[in-house]
Amino acid sequence: MTDKTGPDKTGKVYLIGAGPGDPGLLTIKAKECIETADVVVYDYLASPFLLNYAKKDAQIIYVGKKGGDHTLSQDKINLLLVDKAKLGLDIARLKGGDPFVFGRGGEEAQMLLSQGVPYEVIPGVTSAIAAPAYAGIPVTHRDHTSFVSFITGHEDPTKKDTSMQWDVFAKSNATLVFLMGVKNLENIVKNLVKYGKPLNTPVALVRWGTTARQQTVTGTLETIVERIKQAKLKSPAIIIIGHVVSLREELAWFDKRPLFGKKIVITRARAQASELVSILSKLGAHCIEIPTIQIAPPQDIGPLKESIKNINYYDWLIFTSVNGVKFFFDTLFDMGKDVRALGHLKFACIGPVTCERLKNFGIISDILPETYRAESVIEAFSTIEIKDKKVLLPRAKKARTILPEELIKMGAHLDEIIAYETLLNAQGKEELISLLENDEIDVVTFTSSSTVSNFMSQLESKDTKKLLKNVVTASIGPITSDTARSLDIKPDIEAKEYTIQGLVDSLLTYYESK
Ligand code: SAH
Repeated sequence: MTDKTGPDKTGKVYLIGAGPGDPGLLTIKAKECIETADVVVYDYLASPFLLNYAKKDAQIIYVGKKGGDHTLSQDKINLLLVDKAKLGLDIARLKGGDPFVFGRGGEEAQMLLSQGVPYEVIPGVTSAIAAPAYAGIPVTHRDHTSFVSFITGHEDPTKKDTSMQWDVFAKSNATLVFLMGVKNLENIVKNLVKYGKPLNTPVALVRWGTTARQQTVTGTLETIVERIKQAKLKSPAIIIIGHVVSLREELAWFDKRPLFGKKIVITRARAQASELVSILSKLGAHCIEIPTIQIAPPQDIGPLKESIKNINYYDWLIFTSVNGVKFFFDTLFDMGKDVRALGHLKFACIGPVTCERLKNFGIISDILPETYRAESVIEAFSTIEIKDKKVLLPRAKKARTILPEELIKMGAHLDEIIAYETLLNAQGKEELISLLENDEIDVVTFTSSSTVSNFMSQLESKDTKKLLKNVVTASIGPITSDTARSLDIKPDIEAKEYTIQGLVDSLLTYYESK
């Protein structure tokens, strides 16, 4: 790329609005652009989640800007953009909200233009509209106001040569939306009142709008300063002043969701956490992924391969988990075979999720147990002739023994094969301990016995009783709960239906009754 003659062409800089925080508010165009960029440059208001869209080999550069803490100065950011572009690299420059709304995007575009670097602007959802919207405040409403002003709250309102038209702001009935104004709130209020804005004008501050940390404080010009002090509300927040703020009482929705603000730890393996994270997030929870386990192929894949080689020998194939299905089929395909090799077999699964996974491979399970435990599979087999049948059971290294024992009692010839291993993942140990010590966790979810035992082993040097004193523990079912109790944790919640949805339902019931 950097040969003597330089690249053929200069790369392009995309000035991208990353939205206000909720990753779902990124535009499709912005996402496509992050996916193809060679370099992603982001600052502190852009959700780090969006970096997951970047190419594996993309350079990811954080340029900070938290209040006064500029990791890189604007000049250095400019230089960086120009340097990278001149290397022929395409750059996704992510900016919180919209790049042209108090984002210095205009200045960056002018600078790029002057340096001959081509650029494009991808507008984003600005926090000036989105934070109020998520707080249930429409910035315009026909019954209240027909216009809205976006104002910087950063400028010191006591400054003599101010460009702030306080008299205009005070006299109009526009909704006033201040950005970067938390530190100046007192001055903003004083000036508006000084120029005649009524003391009873409603005001709201929305901090970290559109994220699970969103916090809203309301009042009037008379009360808001005191209330913000009491709530210790800090930047980043949007200040909304005007009659539309009163609509929040009726229209609030985001923070009314049943699990809003609950900080919930997900201990499952990262690859499997997404379903739980997605359901809980939709209910308003702030999910913290600290996987305590990791699912890996078996150390010795030989036996699984051997059983697949001899698949014609078997009559039944039983899966006890989604992972079993995944690793079995991964190996089958690796061996150059496909489902046609399984045409003669009958299938059984524990639970509908495993059945569903199997169906994704084009196979409908012959047995669909009513509940999600090994016991139900055994029950199902009581009406099926299994004596002398050859059964292959690919599953986890450490698994319950009840199913194989019962099948053998019924006269089946059973081959139990290790299809995957559940390993300890201690990467998040320090984060976990620090969150617990600072009381920053409301709920810990356990979705299998190994998540509990590995969770506890990470806390082994600590006083676990004390650390978990204010934490609600939620278990996916009786087996997981037994393991928890054996480790001295008494689960506060146990799912009635032993699935992810069942766990969520029980969590909801728990909080409804609080
Ligand atoms: N370009 C951005 C604004 C950048 S100025 C946009 O369009 O949203 C930085 C200010 O934006 C912060 O001081 C704060 O007032 C506001 N802000 C950004 N994200 C916010 C959020 N999620 N919640 C509340 N305010 C936010």
